[in-house]
Amino acid sequence: MDKVYDLIIIGAGPAGLTAGLYAGRSRLDTLLIERGQDGGQIAITDEIENFPGGLSGPDHIESGAELVARMTAQCAHFGVERLSASVSKVELEGTIKRVHTRDKTYEAKAVIIATGALSRPIGCPGEAELTGKGVSYCATCDGAFFEELEVYVVGGGDTAVEEAMYLTKFARKVTIIHRRDELRAVQSIRERAFANDKIEFMWNSVVTALHGDGILSAMTVKDTKTGEERRVEADEDDGMFGVFVFIGYLPNSQLFSGLVDMEYDYIVTDEAMRTNVPGVYAAGDIRKTPLRQVVTACADGAIAAMQVEHDLASGVIG
Ligand code: NAP
Repeated sequence: MDKVYDLIIIGAGPAGLTAGLYAGRSRLDTLLIERGQDGGQIAITDEIENFPGGLSGPDHIESGAELVARMTAQCAHFGVERLSASVSKVELEGTIKRVHTRDKTYEAKAVIIATGALSRPIGCPGEAELTGKGVSYCATCDGAFFEELEVYVVGGGDTAVEEAMYLTKFARKVTIIHRRDELRAVQSIRERAFANDKIEFMWNSVVTALHGDGILSAMTVKDTKTGEERRVEADEDDGMFGVFVFIGYLPNSQLFSGLVDMEYDYIVTDEAMRTNVPGVYAAGDIRKTPLRQVVTACADGAIAAMQVEHDLASGVIG
């Protein structure tokens, strides 16, 4: 072990990158660890229209990847050290925290957990086998594969309805399958979807099985009111269709299970992003919070980093 950082941030989504920006500006010796690409969920978001000061406007639609690229550059500008690795274990008790990766263990006086959340699967037979073969969790990544085909979107929240609208750029028809008879999505998003003549709705319905021999070609849909099941087949000429799943998220919190307080697998913090363990903070979608947006994740990251700075300076930790 060659050094003890002031701070290790785990996760380079909007929360982690903003924590890095604030920690770097505060001259904290900071290591930011990310196992995949920067940005987390927004790296694969086609359009960000509600980030204050974002560049989306009448002439330009800003993607999540563009926004993240600016956040990454800004974080690097303030001298945050970067590591591309997967964290395998953490030791959070005691004054010095240890963060293990396959090759090395890193030490710090404080840790900010910003590991975000993942798409929730339907959990039905056939889903795992047909993922990438008709089943997808990312319209931006896979929408173009469904040019002129039929596509079904599972879910009724903001994400499902927005992604359904995006998919109409490619698909011949997009059907939203929702388990109730009313969308959860906010009014402004609903209105746009209802006005889009390529979008249809399958109300009070859930997908109970996905079928296909190497490619998705049928599914079983259950009526949530009557319990009746029916099989939906691909159009004969197409031979396949797409199912995009947007039914919420699962927090990436397994590594911290039993180490910090959680509720429904989300980490509980106070308003300064402190967990119940001194020197351990959480920010963004991993946290128990009433709103999971880029702007709230960024705010969490800023608060967490400034609290670390304050706690180190005042001798509360370290
Ligand atoms: P969400 O709001 O939690 O919606 C999840 C949807 O999936 C709900 O319609 C839910 O049905 C349905 N669902 C959940 N489990 C299901 C299951 N097992 N089978 C079938 N359906 C299931 O998730 P989200 O849409 O991803 O949004 C997450 C957060 O991000 C929200 O706060 C949202 O406002 C925000 N967001 C905002 C924007 C924007 O402002 N532009 C865009 C995207 C996301 P019920 O309605 O019956 O519960």
